[in-house]
Amino acid sequence: MSNCAIVGINWGDEGKGRMVDLLTEKYDIVVRYQGGGNAGHTVINEYGKFALHLLPSGIFRNGVVNILGNGVALDPENLLKEIKDVAAKGVPITPDNLKISDRASLLLPWHRELDALEEARLADKKYGSTKQGIAPFYSDKYQKKTVLAGELFYPDELKAHLKDLLEWKNLIITKVYGAPAHTMDELEKWLCNYCELIKPFICDTGAYLKKAVKGGKSILFEAQLGALRDLDYGIYPYTTSSNAIAAYAPVGSGLPGAKIDEIIGVVKAYSTCVGEGPFTCEWFGQEAVRLRDAGFEYGAKTGRPRRVGPLDIVATRYGVETQGATDIALTKLDVLSYMEKIPVCTHYIVNGIQTDEFPFPAALGDAKPVFEYLDGWGTDISGIRTWEELPEAARAYVLFIEERIGAHIKYVSVGPERDSIIIR
Ligand code: GDP
Repeated sequence: MSNCAIVGINWGDEGKGRMVDLLTEKYDIVVRYQGGGNAGHTVINEYGKFALHLLPSGIFRNGVVNILGNGVALDPENLLKEIKDVAAKGVPITPDNLKISDRASLLLPWHRELDALEEARLADKKYGSTKQGIAPFYSDKYQKKTVLAGELFYPDELKAHLKDLLEWKNLIITKVYGAPAHTMDELEKWLCNYCELIKPFICDTGAYLKKAVKGGKSILFEAQLGALRDLDYGIYPYTTSSNAIAAYAPVGSGLPGAKIDEIIGVVKAYSTCVGEGPFTCEWFGQEAVRLRDAGFEYGAKTGRPRRVGPLDIVATRYGVETQGATDIALTKLDVLSYMEKIPVCTHYIVNGIQTDEFPFPAALGDAKPVFEYLDGWGTDISGIRTWEELPEAARAYVLFIEERIGAHIKYVSVGPERDSIIIR
């Protein structure tokens, strides 16, 4: 038995979905351990092109069991929609290949609304939320003001619990935000229309995983977002509201005592970021448009144009260390083929001092990037499948990054398709 976590090193959208899709072949179980429907893992395979939000990326593999762990924000409405959309393309989804932890908390009907109300209140100071209710959900989870999926099997207790939550939440919705109150009638409809339909998937996934480990099964932990969006270690408050780092995988999966054998950190060959917050290497104007279009950098969930810029070694090395990455997958190298010279940010200048240490979030806004320029390779590399065939300048770019971030780059991805990969 071996297990592995696939995690983002930067701001998210590094291409984790395509890596999980590729590597699930070697694993029996894939577990999503944090985050919610605000993810957008893009996967291209024999079934078509998908932007997975909550479903684990192992859903396409025959025989792989996919688990939504206790750490996820379980939105029954969006999950059902996603199951329907993916199943419509011929992918079988049954309680045999999809299991939901009975300890996962439910994203309640008011969470998405509260997300939008708070972003509107913040106006120009907004966080850039995807408005999927994730921040209100996690704050409620830690206040112990939401419902565990397993409570759906205890209808009387559940109704009493929801009644208490409704009373409390309406105070906030009506008195703080001046919005209309929710009703028990509405909650009952939600239970009937959505929650009843996810019940067949809910079980004690912790017990399932323990048994699987004893039986020698191998597990892949799938993260959402990246180290710089981690609640504790990211660019707070422009983080997500959960822990995206590998160290949280055992906790959010239902195997709190597990040791992770391999941690694959996914890094994009340049930088992108969705939403607000400091982004030191950001490009604007024509060069940003060119890179954005070359990499098709538009949000998988929202369609928003992503902020783009050159690779940031300072942030990436911090991400590698925070994740404890044992190997790196470098994605989208093919996108840089149009550049004659490729800038890479090796240091920041913070308060007039040059540093290669990633600063405290409050100091990040003043950081200025220092670039080195590497040679481009000037040719399409998307058809290349071996390290030796890569142009020398492309290999030099990979080796430069490897040396500066201090981690082995095992996978070099040169296209979005499952087989567009070079393994070193
Ligand atoms: P994730 O959330 O980390 O899974 O990343 P996203 O799915 O949001 O973004 C990655 C995007 O890049 C998707 O559209 C992928 O299909 C695409 N992609 C992944 N790897 C490569 C690659 O090596 N080259 C190219 N051109 N596209 C890639």
